[in-house]
Amino acid sequence: MIERYTHSGRVEAGPALGALIAATGAGVALGALNGRVSALVDSRDAAPVAWTVGSMFCGVAVGWFSQRALRSARVRNSAMASATAVLAVVSAAAATWVMRALIVSGRATAAEFLRLLFDPVELWTAASVVIARPSAHELPAALGWVLAGLEIAFMVAVSTAVALSGWSKPFCETCGRWTTERRPLRLTSPDAETRRRFQAGDVALLLTLPSAVPDPTEWLEIRLYECAGCRAFSVVTILAMQDVQRSRSATFRLPLRWSIEDRILRAGDAAALRARFDSRAEGRPTV
Ligand SMILES: [Zn+2]
Repeated sequence: MIERYTHSGRVEAGPALGALIAATGAGVALGALNGRVSALVDSRDAAPVAWTVGSMFCGVAVGWFSQRALRSARVRNSAMASATAVLAVVSAAAATWVMRALIVSGRATAAEFLRLLFDPVELWTAASVVIARPSAHELPAALGWVLAGLEIAFMVAVSTAVALSGWSKPFCETCGRWTTERRPLRLTSPDAETRRRFQAGDVALLLTLPSAVPDPTEWLEIRLYECAGCRAFSVVTILAMQDVQRSRSATFRLPLRWSIEDRILRAGDAAALRARFDSRAEGRPTV
């Protein structure tokens, strides 16, 4: 079996702390902006919906920023990355509600903002006032709490997903850099015997499969991650994919029953696979 790639778990303390502070700071700034914008639509009937939509966008932005911070700090530790992503978006949610509470109560100053941000008990009380006040949209307070809870839950989920999805590409420990991913290659689905040999680790079999026909309904998607520094570290992921027709107009792309993820390629296999990607890029037949 060829070796499976997993992150080394290493972090450099200085840059990792820098990423944590930068991501959390960005979360606070973007959350404050979100709170300020949401106060502008406070009197409209659709305010609860607008607030939730605004917080989704804020969550995506915070997640993107966290992802950039984690990558530039070269954090290869899942626990550290998750903690950074969650802390950043929780700070953004807190800053959003601090700003809403301060605007509603008419005391939006920098000093009040910081005081409330670091005082969860008082923030809870202030947010309760915003949620339970008689408002133009006349929601029962209980529904207001449910909406606020859902808004924060969605925001945290979206943001964390964005932060961690792009962050976790393989990392070359020799060169101290992230790998880059090529546009995926599509090959025809293998028969059961070839698939069994794939799963037993014979990834070189990839080189024997023909390219998929244009617009296939079932295919193998080959993802190749390479270190642009040493060109000696390559990781491959093989996903069996399928287009599933759910109705006349809707087609869903789904990963199939099996996949072989993140295998470190031996040098010879890597060179041969790279050549195959290269030949596709130049438009030559790849069979
Ligand atoms: Zn390298």
